[in-house]
Amino acid sequence: MKTQIADLTPERIVAVQQAAETWTPQRTLAWAFDTFGDRVAISSAFGAEGMVLIDMASRVRKDFRLFTIDTEFLFPETYALMDRIEQKYEVKIEKVLSLLSPEDQEHLHGEALWARDPDQCCNLRKVEPLRRKLSELRSWITSIRRDQTSFRRAARKIEWDVKFGLVKVNPIADWTSKQIWRYLHDHDVPYNPLHDKDYPSIGCTHCTRAIRPGEDARAGRWPGTAKTECGLHMIEPLARLPVADV
Ligand code: SF4
Repeated sequence: MKTQIADLTPERIVAVQQAAETWTPQRTLAWAFDTFGDRVAISSAFGAEGMVLIDMASRVRKDFRLFTIDTEFLFPETYALMDRIEQKYEVKIEKVLSLLSPEDQEHLHGEALWARDPDQCCNLRKVEPLRRKLSELRSWITSIRRDQTSFRRAARKIEWDVKFGLVKVNPIADWTSKQIWRYLHDHDVPYNPLHDKDYPSIGCTHCTRAIRPGEDARAGRWPGTAKTECGLHMIEPLARLPVADV
């Protein structure tokens, strides 16, 4: 029986969550599109994983929704990739901006906030805009993978997002980096050229550098600090659903 949005209490999600762990990414995407219609959207920063998901989604449903949090500090290569995506997949990327322009931010919080207080900068430019966007949705789809950071290790393919109060869908949670790159090459999917210049993870220009040989894939994000996440995917373990029952 088809799941109705109204049925999707956090408890009901636990049951779907159990089944979804055996689903392919395509089946997980189809479930999200069928269940939430135009109240579900893919969130992407257009990294390698995001490109896999966008390509898969385009084969499952033509008119899928896609949004990005545009901090206005992204690399020119990322903006160029967005243009290419819009052309190739005939999708309009919904760009969500901070309420503060970079100039307003400097005026209110001083120069180079990202260097002095990256958590506050990420809150202003990423977390608040995401919260605003998610308030219009019933579900969001992300391209996080479990082996990317310790916070992501417990991610389920379908889960109740306690932080933002909606259903979070992670269709490629169990994929490896190797699978991602095989898919990109096999399907001739465009990707950010910075990946070929030792940028495995790409965020804002101010907080991203190329990695050095032997470094972790996310070592180039917020280098020199203990920060590994911008706050979009951080969920306290105790706030998770009882996954031990799944
Ligand atoms: S990644 Fe850096 S520049 Fe971008 S929002 Fe976060 S702290 Fe600011």
